[in-house]
Amino acid sequence: MAKLFIPGPIDVSKETFAAMSQPMIGHRGAEFEALYASTQPVLKQLAGTSRPFFLSTSSAWGVMEASLRNLCAKKVLTLCCGAFSDKWFDVANKMGIPAEKIQVEWGEAISPAAVRAKLEEGGFDLVTLIHNETSTGVMNDLAGIAKVVKSFPGVLLVVDSVSSFSAVPIGMDALGIDVLLAGVQKALALPPGLTVFSCSEGALERAKSMPNRGYYFDFIEFAKNAEKNNTPSTPAISLIFGLQHILSVIENEGVEKRFARHKKNNAMIHDWAARHDFKHFAPEGNRSVSLSCFHTPPGFDQSAFIKSLKSKHGFVINGGYGKIKGLTFRISNMGNETPETMQELIDAMNDVLG
Ligand SMILES: *Cc1c(COP(=O)(O)O)cnc(C)c1O
Repeated sequence: MAKLFIPGPIDVSKETFAAMSQPMIGHRGAEFEALYASTQPVLKQLAGTSRPFFLSTSSAWGVMEASLRNLCAKKVLTLCCGAFSDKWFDVANKMGIPAEKIQVEWGEAISPAAVRAKLEEGGFDLVTLIHNETSTGVMNDLAGIAKVVKSFPGVLLVVDSVSSFSAVPIGMDALGIDVLLAGVQKALALPPGLTVFSCSEGALERAKSMPNRGYYFDFIEFAKNAEKNNTPSTPAISLIFGLQHILSVIENEGVEKRFARHKKNNAMIHDWAARHDFKHFAPEGNRSVSLSCFHTPPGFDQSAFIKSLKSKHGFVINGGYGKIKGLTFRISNMGNETPETMQELIDAMNDVLG
């Protein structure tokens, strides 16, 4: 089996799989409540929040869509800079929710000044931001954008940190983020199928006033059940065992050390790229620390490179996403990777490049 260095899903450790194969427990009992409660301290620490975390049995899009349904009473402003952030605007349209967007070219970051100018037009009550746009390798200025949004009373901020959660500090409470969400198959290095998220008091107040929230993704149901360390419907218990394991790994390593390790791993890939003259797709100052996205140089057979890397060395990197497929390639350094395992990948890529 090949080892994944694509930006999600990523490699899952044997220990995580072992934790996931514990005997099943009922979800309306003390054992599950203890399991749920055990996930809270490290999730809160990673997010920088004192708010409870909810566990949604869905991929990230479930909670991304739910954020619109639970929180948008007037009009949403979607900040679009790549495949995932652009899609959030489409999803609002599909739901019949009034939406406007700020659209920048793929590879560029969202400017806080542009967000201010747009919000000054008025009529908005929600903003969606993808912190780390996984399709382009752009990491947006979360603090700068949050500061702008917070200066508009009544406008809530939803942040997707799917590929940044646990790789960099977030500061949910300090920044005034209203919903923070992360699918577990990216930076948390679990198999797909679970999303962790947290809501501010303001977000829950807004949700309470919203009709037609449905049931499965009703934030108020999540909040009520979380008070008893539980979930509204039967959760993916095996994934939560896996989550408990990975959070204990994170706690033992220490979050600061984990953040530093991601920086180091990422810098190794940047150094490798510089030696081969591969150019970054994202601008300096807005580059992700959990993955790297590079332009495919003219005349470079990207697809042959990726194929040989897999067949000769068993490592998989990604050949670009959406409309920049083929034009870019991406390498993940999220999760459990270490300088040693990144070096193995680099040696293999050098071997293929010859
Ligand atoms: C992967 C990804 C998603 C989509 O997650 P699904 O698991 O497919 O729902 C959303 N946002 C970002 C930033 C991602 O990287």
